[in-house]
Amino acid sequence: DDKSCDVVVVGSGGAGLAAAIEAHDKGASVIIVEKMPITGGNTNKASAGMNAAETRFQQQAGIIDHKEWFYNETLKGGKNKNNPQLLHYFVEHAPAAIDWLDEKGIQLNNLTTTGGMSVDRTHRPSSGAAVGGFLISGLLKNINDRGIEVMLDTSVTEIEMKDGRVNAVMVCDEEGTEQRISTKAVIVATGGFGANAQMVTHYRPDLADFVTTNHKGATGSGIALLQKIGAGTVDMNEIQIHPTVEQNTAYLISESIRGGGAILISQQGKRFVNELDTRDKVSNSIIALPEHYAYILFDEQICTQNKAAETYIGKGLAVQAATLAELADKLAIDPESLINTVERYNQYVKQQHDEDFGRTTGMRHPLNQPSFYAIQIAPGIHHTMGGITINTNTEVLDTNAQIIKGVYAAGEVTGGVHGGNRIGGNAIADIIIFGIQAGDQAAAYAKKH
Ligand code: ADP
Repeated sequence: DDKSCDVVVVGSGGAGLAAAIEAHDKGASVIIVEKMPITGGNTNKASAGMNAAETRFQQQAGIIDHKEWFYNETLKGGKNKNNPQLLHYFVEHAPAAIDWLDEKGIQLNNLTTTGGMSVDRTHRPSSGAAVGGFLISGLLKNINDRGIEVMLDTSVTEIEMKDGRVNAVMVCDEEGTEQRISTKAVIVATGGFGANAQMVTHYRPDLADFVTTNHKGATGSGIALLQKIGAGTVDMNEIQIHPTVEQNTAYLISESIRGGGAILISQQGKRFVNELDTRDKVSNSIIALPEHYAYILFDEQICTQNKAAETYIGKGLAVQAATLAELADKLAIDPESLINTVERYNQYVKQQHDEDFGRTTGMRHPLNQPSFYAIQIAPGIHHTMGGITINTNTEVLDTNAQIIKGVYAAGEVTGGVHGGNRIGGNAIADIIIFGIQAGDQAAAYAKKH
C-alpha cells in the first residue's frame, strides 16, 4: 500500500501548508503528513499578526516604513544573535509574502505594532480576528482547492536516505500501522518543542516551573528526525517566555492588546515597564515583581477593536468593572494608586510622551471608556527560537554546514532567524516567507532528480 510523490511535507502548521501550496503550484506532487488529528499546529494559536516592512497595505494606510528599520529592530530585539543571511532574506521577502497570501484570498491589511517595533508593521485580518485561525483556514481552503492530500493522525518517524539523498519517509498512523512513502524531497515543518517539558528543561533548567502556551504537538520530534540524518542545530537554549499568559488556563493574552493601547500594572497599582519593550524584557520585569505576576488593563475601546479581547472576556479570564475604583476593589489594589496610575498614563497619551518608561508605541487613546478590564498574567514558555540549521534556500545543513540533499526545513523547527529573542509578529512572517521558499526549492529539486 505504499505511496509515492515528489515532495512530502511534514507538519501542517503555517509553514507546512504554505510550502505545500507553493510546491504544488510549481508543478510538484505533494503529500502532507500531520501527526495530530487536526491541522494547524501552534499556528492555530497565533494571535498578533505578520510583520513586514514596505508593504502595499502600509502604503495604503500612509505608514512610512523601511526594510532597514525592520532589519535593525529585529536584530536588536534578537540581541544581535540572529543569523544575518537568514534575517536579510526574511526582511527582503516579507512584502512579497504578504502579497502571496493576498493572492490566495488571505488578506492582512489591518496594521498594529508589537514589542520592539517602532512603527505599525504587524499585519492582521481586517475583522480584528486572531491571525492564526484566519491564516490556517485560508491556507486549508487553498490546499483543498488544489486537491493536496493531508494524512492526519500520522507521524513521520524516519527520513530514509540513499546514496546521500532523500529516498523515502516512514510514517506511522495512530493505530501503529507503518507505511513507506517514496519521495524525491522532504520539507520538515514540524514546529518547535515548547510543549516538551523534558526537552525544554534539558536546555533550560531554569524554565522547569513555567506553564506553556503551546499545543500538545509541539514536541520537537522533527528536530530528532533531522538529527538522525546528521542535521545541525543552533541556539537550542534560546527559549522565549511570553510575558502575558493567564496562568490557570495557560491562555496567551495577545501582544496586540498592548499594541492597541493596554497597560500593565502591578498588585500595587503601578506601571513598571514600557509595555511594548521586547518580550524578554517585559517578562523579566514581571518576574522581578514581588508577586511575580501583573495585570493587563484595558478598556472598552480596545475590546471593540480586537476580537481577542472579547474571547478572553467570554472565557471568564477578565475581571470587569464599570469604574477604575471598582476594578481596583475587585483586584484588592489600592484604588487611589490605580486611578493615579491610569490618569498619569492618559496624560502621557495626550502628550505622546511617556515620562516614566519611555513607551513610544501603542499609545493610541486614553484608557477612559468603561467597562474596564484586567487579566492577571505572568510569563509562560512560548517559542523555541533555536532549531535546525538551514541556509536561505531552506536546505538543511549538517553539523559541518554541508547541505543534506533533498531535505528542507521551515518555520519554528529551524533556528537562526530570531536570534536570542523573537519579536511578536515575526513567527508568522517566518513561517510564510520560508514556507514559500521551501516549497519553491523542494519543487525545483524534485524536478531535477
Ligand atoms: P510552524 O509554525 O513552524 O508552521 P506549527 O507548530 O504551526 O509550526 O506546525 C507544526 C505541525 O507539525 C504541528 O501540527 C505538529 O503536530 C506537526 N508535527 C510535529 N511533528 C510531526 C511528525 N513527526 N510528523 C508529522 N507531523 C508532525
